[in-house]
Amino acid sequence: MEDYEVIIIGGGPAGLTAGLYTARAHLHTVLLEAKIPSGQMAMAETIENYPGFPDGIPGVELVDRFTKQAMRFGLQILQYTNVEGVELRDGRKIVTARERKFSAAALIVASGVRWNKLGVPGEVQLANRGVSYCATCDGAFFEDLDVAVIGGGDTAVEDALYLAKIARKVFLIHRRDQLRAQKILQNRALKNHKIETLWSTVLREIRGEDLVESVVLENLKDSSTQELGVSGVFIAVGQRPNVNYLRGLVDMDKAGYIVTDENCATSVPGIFAPGDVRKKALRQISTAVGDGALAAFGAERYIEMQNC
Ligand code: NAP
Repeated sequence: MEDYEVIIIGGGPAGLTAGLYTARAHLHTVLLEAKIPSGQMAMAETIENYPGFPDGIPGVELVDRFTKQAMRFGLQILQYTNVEGVELRDGRKIVTARERKFSAAALIVASGVRWNKLGVPGEVQLANRGVSYCATCDGAFFEDLDVAVIGGGDTAVEDALYLAKIARKVFLIHRRDQLRAQKILQNRALKNHKIETLWSTVLREIRGEDLVESVVLENLKDSSTQELGVSGVFIAVGQRPNVNYLRGLVDMDKAGYIVTDENCATSVPGIFAPGDVRKKALRQISTAVGDGALAAFGAERYIEMQNC
């Protein structure tokens, strides 16, 4: 058993901020990250709504800065350490990850969200063969080719705008006749001559032998179908929380988001849940950072009370 005062699960903006605060408060802290510190922010080409960077900042650079700042205060980060389970033992939180066991008084769950799948024929078979969930990761493979983006939220519209710089044409395919994305992004997409929005349209199938060759679409207004030739399909239809390893340990809502109070405290004393993983109104880097600070503060208070 490896003992700490605080364990943090997840190396996105919430987890890294919590780690900065607890390490700076001289709490012996380890951050467990399934891959490398990143979170969704690493996927953004440019982040322009995080204050302090008037010209925007690439997502990967912001991750790097968050990580370096937390490590400067002694945060220990274990990469490629996927958490498999959490249990309680005499009030201590025991975390199992890759056959190692970690124990701490306080646990900060900042494991964020993962991309939803559409569940259409061809999606699994052609994954990484033209089907992608990350435009900034895979967009470069589609230079001067036609691609489709599925969804109408911030992610889909940002993906379409990014891909329009690389691809020949981008079809933005949305199931309603109105986008969900922020107005500023909508306006940019609607003005971009390389983006064609197909309204009230859903993806029914992705076709191709070895690589994506076309998509079958259905217009929900008149039930007509069409086959559209594209080389890439970028799916951006929302997210769900990464909470499987908690197995109902803390209270969650119907969608699996962790229910917390305004200080990110969960239903279990000493477990805090900042960032996208918790039930909240706005999932942004700025709100994740605030949550991370609150969770660290809560953890510090909890440990002080245990030591009284
Ligand atoms: P989202 O806001 O949940 O949007 C998901 C989109 O996919 C919606 O347009 C939804 O359609 C559509 N959709 C869902 N299920 C579908 C299905 N089965 N078939 C077809 N379409 C489907 O997800 P997101 O865009 O990934 O954003 C997630 C969170 O991150 C949001 O809070 C967002 O604001 C935030 N975010 C912020 C930024 C930024 O600030 N720059 C960038 C990216 C993400 P309906 O609209 O009809 O429901």
